[in-house]
Amino acid sequence: MKRLIVTGGAGFIGSAVVRQLIRNTDDAVLNLDRLTYAGNVDSVREVAENARYSFAQVDICDRFAVERVFAEFRPDAVMHLAAESHVDRSIDGPSAFIRTNIVGTATLLEIATAYWRALPDGARSAFRFQHISTDEVYGSLGPEGLFTERSAYDPRSPYSASKAASDHLVKAWYHTYGLPVLLTNCSNNYGPYHFPEKLIPLVILNALEGKPLPIYGKGDNVRDWLYVEDHAKALRLVLEKGVPGETYNVGGNNERTNLQVVEMICETLDALRPDRLGLLGLRSFKGLIEFVPDRPGHDKRYAIDATKLRTALGWMPEESFDTGILKTVRWYLDNAWWWQPIRERKYAGQRLGAVL
Ligand code: NAD
Repeated sequence: MKRLIVTGGAGFIGSAVVRQLIRNTDDAVLNLDRLTYAGNVDSVREVAENARYSFAQVDICDRFAVERVFAEFRPDAVMHLAAESHVDRSIDGPSAFIRTNIVGTATLLEIATAYWRALPDGARSAFRFQHISTDEVYGSLGPEGLFTERSAYDPRSPYSASKAASDHLVKAWYHTYGLPVLLTNCSNNYGPYHFPEKLIPLVILNALEGKPLPIYGKGDNVRDWLYVEDHAKALRLVLEKGVPGETYNVGGNNERTNLQVVEMICETLDALRPDRLGLLGLRSFKGLIEFVPDRPGHDKRYAIDATKLRTALGWMPEESFDTGILKTVRWYLDNAWWWQPIRERKYAGQRLGAVL
């Protein structure tokens, strides 16, 4: 049994990690989350009463509060997912991204290093600081090729630049102080509990309400999609078996253009909600698709080569894009209790990051 701090455990991916850890291991998990607009304790409702789960509403930039959590909880490892994560919001307001993703990560690294140095020998060599990052740090691909762990960093949005900076800090702490770090860079995630500002949940919920389904530019930007539970499993595997100082790319080998993604969601909804189609007077939800001006600096294509994770640690995603999308659409249809309050009180689907 390990004691793990998961930062950002009330977010989309962090909550999947927390739910899996409580469900599938004997580990004790402290969820450290500031609860920004993107954080939601409802996402961990199914584990909230478990004796091995605890929650601290703490900002990772708040040095004293984070130090107190480390001193009281005494973690064996930190899984660091807390971040500002939405590219469009980083265009409207980059400073929150600089603060949390760069300053917050540096603060955590300093506190974790001081804590780790004071551990007894065995515990010190077993300690891990796992940093969760994105493939967007590698920039944009042309029609060919894949990002590998050796791809040069070339971030283009305030979000990806802030994540690239945090990756460099994590690597610097490994080389300079010897902190046993692990890094993962993952492609686009989708699945249950995804905040409905992101493409897939936004399209599902807008379609159900008969609202336009916005597609940036021509819809020909390509992303490599991974089901969130597969990502969470990869993170657990890297934490358990990864080699300190190493980076592991995580990707689903599921490249799709944005237009293909939206059309697939529409076809799934056509099959699952013909009643709603009738009410809206549509033959297909595709009739709601609307092309809107592109995101400024929109990266053309991301695609991940996850060979290292597969060969070194034996990871394989379980969901294909077809099975994952079906599960996701069904989840949103069955779980209005989770997304309805968000749509009503936090974010109703308006355009962000257009720099108009
Ligand atoms: P999210 O926006 O859903 O969740 C982020 C969480 O961090 C929220 O619960 C929020 O309250 C918390 N948080 C934000 N600022 C904080 C602060 N200052 N202190 C403490 N908590 C704070 O993000 P996500 O999609 O779950 O992404 C999690 C991590 O995975 C991020 O680091 C992101 O860069 C990375 N990532 C995401 C994707 C993706 O497709 N979503 C892909 C690859 C990597």
